Amino acid sequence: MNSAKLSHRSPTTDHGSQAFPKELASSVAISQSLEELGWIPRPKLLALRRLGIETVEDLLTHFPRRHEDRTEFPQFPREESDVPICLCGEVTKTSLRRFGGWRKIFEVTLQESNPNALSEPLVCRWFNLHYVQKMIATGQRMVVFGKPRLRGKRICMDHPEFEVIENDEEISIHFRRITPIYPATEGLSQRVLRGMIYRLLNELPSTDAGLERLTPSNLAKGERRDAIRAIHFPASWEARDAAHEHLVLTEFFAMQMLIASRRADASIRQGEKHCGAGALLDRLLKSLPFELTAAQSRVISEIRHDLAASHAMNRLLQGDVGSGKTAVAIAAMLLAVEGGYQAAFMAPTQILAEQHYDVLQRWLDPLGIRVALRTAARQEESGPLPLFEHAGNSERQEPQIIVGTHALLYDKVSFSNLGLVVVDEQHKFGVAQRAQLSAREPAPDVLVMTATPIPRTLTMTIYGDLDVSTIDEMPRNRGKIITAVRDESKLGEVLAFLRTRLEAGRQLYVIYPLIDESEKLDAKAAAAEYELWRERLHPFRCDLLHGRIPPSEKQEIMERFRNGETSALISTTVLEVGVDVPNASVMLIENAERFGLAQLHQLRGRIGRGEHKSYCILLTSAQAKEASAKLAVLERTRDGFEVAEADWELRGPGDLLGTAQSGLPALKIGNLKTDAHLMRRARAAAVSILERDPPLELPENQRFRRLIVEQQGRTFSNVS
Ligand code: ADP
Ligand code: MG
Repeated sequence: MNSAKLSHRSPTTDHGSQAFPKELASSVAISQSLEELGWIPRPKLLALRRLGIETVEDLLTHFPRRHEDRTEFPQFPREESDVPICLCGEVTKTSLRRFGGWRKIFEVTLQESNPNALSEPLVCRWFNLHYVQKMIATGQRMVVFGKPRLRGKRICMDHPEFEVIENDEEISIHFRRITPIYPATEGLSQRVLRGMIYRLLNELPSTDAGLERLTPSNLAKGERRDAIRAIHFPASWEARDAAHEHLVLTEFFAMQMLIASRRADASIRQGEKHCGAGALLDRLLKSLPFELTAAQSRVISEIRHDLAASHAMNRLLQGDVGSGKTAVAIAAMLLAVEGGYQAAFMAPTQILAEQHYDVLQRWLDPLGIRVALRTAARQEESGPLPLFEHAGNSERQEPQIIVGTHALLYDKVSFSNLGLVVVDEQHKFGVAQRAQLSAREPAPDVLVMTATPIPRTLTMTIYGDLDVSTIDEMPRNRGKIITAVRDESKLGEVLAFLRTRLEAGRQLYVIYPLIDESEKLDAKAAAAEYELWRERLHPFRCDLLHGRIPPSEKQEIMERFRNGETSALISTTVLEVGVDVPNASVMLIENAERFGLAQLHQLRGRIGRGEHKSYCILLTSAQAKEASAKLAVLERTRDGFEVAEADWELRGPGDLLGTAQSGLPALKIGNLKTDAHLMRRARAAAVSILERDPPLELPENQRFRRLIVEQQGRTFSNVS
């Protein structure tokens, strides 16, 4: 620290106190802990910690939630206003009046400092606030902020925020400016936060304060330290907007550098070629009762291209519910098997793993492919997989395809020669797990599949490190789905309708919401619900499915439903993903308003899988009026992406970008929705840097390299 900088300090600051050597106190570094500064009282330090703020940098990047226009209003108002305004004037009169016995009103009359002919005085009123009257006296100048109201003939402001001005030279932190409003917490008022941040900014050296720019210069205008000053205490709204853009770009750029580096890492990792010639696949396609859609064929060839390349595949397969992702997965696995490798197929739940196993057996047994199911129960035994007797060959052989839950990931014994991993329903499978997969030696090709529709603008962020294939077309044989919202009071009519469908030979799902599957109470509620439905649907047979039913029993229940022994399945959302019974063409969802839109869309995806016309009835109570906009979206569209966009619209992006799942740091200032255009720019900048300098070796890229390392530390500690 040089003395030139020291001389910038204002002589009135008190941090040069005995307790601190001068040098240290004035050379505030952004990595310093706030405690070390010495001027923040203990209780405030604790409150700050509750907001996750421990260092100077944390506090400087505690960005305002919004700003309030407290620039001084040019003249005293003569009318009411719904917008609070800031006024400055001289106290010409104070009075204390009693009303209703012991209650008091303190009134202060404020006169414009340079009154013009038209100006009216302003009356500020405080009710029962004892301390205010001690702070204000006639002759003082003061500034107030509040909504002017007409009271009789007077213009009044009730309980304004205020400050007495001692010295007109003095800059007000809280008034006569565009004032920051922070996310606050108990024990940390706006004023306290504002005061601390103001002081910190003043104590930062005016040149490089560890706040150097963290974006390439062609991405964001201006300097980061200026942007940080201006986001807190902007000189104008334009300055605020410019600072905001700079900081959002900085944040997005960091995120996109992390994503792009993950992607670059993956693409240089050498893998093996895992692709056979395709004879098996051809045989399978000939044996299927349907033709692949053009979209399915296209994504299969994209995957095939990756399998045949020597780098490890890292691909996301996106496709709405019912678009036929399983067939694509099977095609990919067959290519790997023909190439001489094992393939693993991982589902999020037991039921789904078993369903996949059934399909695989049905489709692949005729081709002589060895498929094994590895369930959670069997995994606990952790023995080796069952070996297969090969026809005409006494040697027992390992399975070629292994189906299981995501727990397969931790299974050491299952694979001797793993070439491809397919992960179904990726939304329950985060970046950390994916990283674990690609860290295997030798690296297998990885295909993750998701039906969770994500707004298109988000894909580049959430899945930015993956190549994306999209199935954007439904098989042609699909019947219509009619979706209708009905009030609970119409249950009688609904039941009559359901019976006509059952009589026509169709099957039915009844879904009801349980908040917490683990509660005993809920299991009881489920049982009661089931009894009710058995009576309602008599003589059609029902089964009950919920999370507490043991896996083997669940499988039997699904089997009975699949082969038509039962006509209705009363279920919680364990049914949510992947279940595929084409004859089940009717779904009733109780208390539909309690589910999220995306989840309702997933649930509805269980029907409309065969050629029958399907019906989804969303039952809701009359009280749940605000839910009707949400449910109407489903009546309107069946397109998962449209549903996702609408969901986003209604709910805000908040938890869409779950940190744990995306493995990305939480955003402090950027908004994925309103700032989507900035995300695109940040992404382009990050990609171009990593393209020119993949290992980030150039001297000018060192700071970006540090940026990535820092973030990696932060995000992965979140996940594990
Ligand atoms: P999801 O993408 O939701 O996982 P599935 O893979 O379960 O969808 O496919 C839904 C149903 O559609 C299955 O019964 C499947 O056999 C069938 N299917 C898949 N592809 C086609 C196609 N091209 N034409 C007709 N039916 C198909
Ligand atoms: Mg599926």
